[in-house]
Amino acid sequence: MMSETKIICHVCGGSNFTLIKPTDATGKLTSENFAITNFDYGKTGELQRCNSCGFIQCTDLKEVVKFYEELEDLEYENTRLERKIQEVRLVQFFSKYKSRGKLLDIGAGSGIMVEAALEKGYDCIGIEPSKWLYRKAQELKLPVIQGLFPHVDARGPFDIITLVDVIEHVTEPAELLTDIHKELDHDGILVLVTPDVNSVAAKLLRYKWWHYRFAHIGYFNKKTLKFLLNKSGFSIIKMTRPSWYFALKYLGKRFFSFLPKFLQFPLPDFLGKIVIPVNLRDSILVICKKYD
Ligand SMILES: [Zn+2]
Repeated sequence: MMSETKIICHVCGGSNFTLIKPTDATGKLTSENFAITNFDYGKTGELQRCNSCGFIQCTDLKEVVKFYEELEDLEYENTRLERKIQEVRLVQFFSKYKSRGKLLDIGAGSGIMVEAALEKGYDCIGIEPSKWLYRKAQELKLPVIQGLFPHVDARGPFDIITLVDVIEHVTEPAELLTDIHKELDHDGILVLVTPDVNSVAAKLLRYKWWHYRFAHIGYFNKKTLKFLLNKSGFSIIKMTRPSWYFALKYLGKRFFSFLPKFLQFPLPDFLGKIVIPVNLRDSILVICKKYD
């Protein structure tokens, strides 16, 4: 079905789309729909696929910033332990490309990546729209500022900018990458992680895939991500798939959310203390540098 509305592809600028999924929004959305740990998989706004480049974007949710500013997410803080392990591993990974310097984490949440990078010796700050997550960072005395990038208090040049699970949330990804390009040192690196809509998990689970959610506006695959990065002045020096770390209890709860209610039972607490790496191979991790 062709859409009549005038929309522009955030990746290639094309204006020919195919409607692939109508919106699931029935009433007014709230910031709860945008929580990082929201369980409402498969619920999205209207999704359209660009006929030129294949990029999938949500076309009916435009003013999402306010949801992030008001976002509160207790479950996210409860999973801080495994998120910390994840960030420590990620810092370890990109330190092979840039072992020291000034780092900016965009979409810093409560500062978990910032904490991991500080421990590794980076000169580090984070920026985060959610006032609630910002306050959590404050409580832990982590250098996170509240607001949106670009920001007067987050001026470069930075040696490293990290953008982990952020680009899929924004309505103007090209603009964001261009702004990052400006704040990055000439031999700085961009570390970017985003879900892969062409992954096996995404294809098998179709609209049950955990990354189909209201909060996700843009659905990248390797090709569309590479295209947009190149267009924004970046070349990819490494592309891989990151592992995530989960407590067994959290995974169990997630797994149960796929089952009918009568098959669900309470999980024992000790499962919350066992953390395991899971590589679902459904995200893309890229290290980029600026074109020479
Ligand atoms: Zn396109």
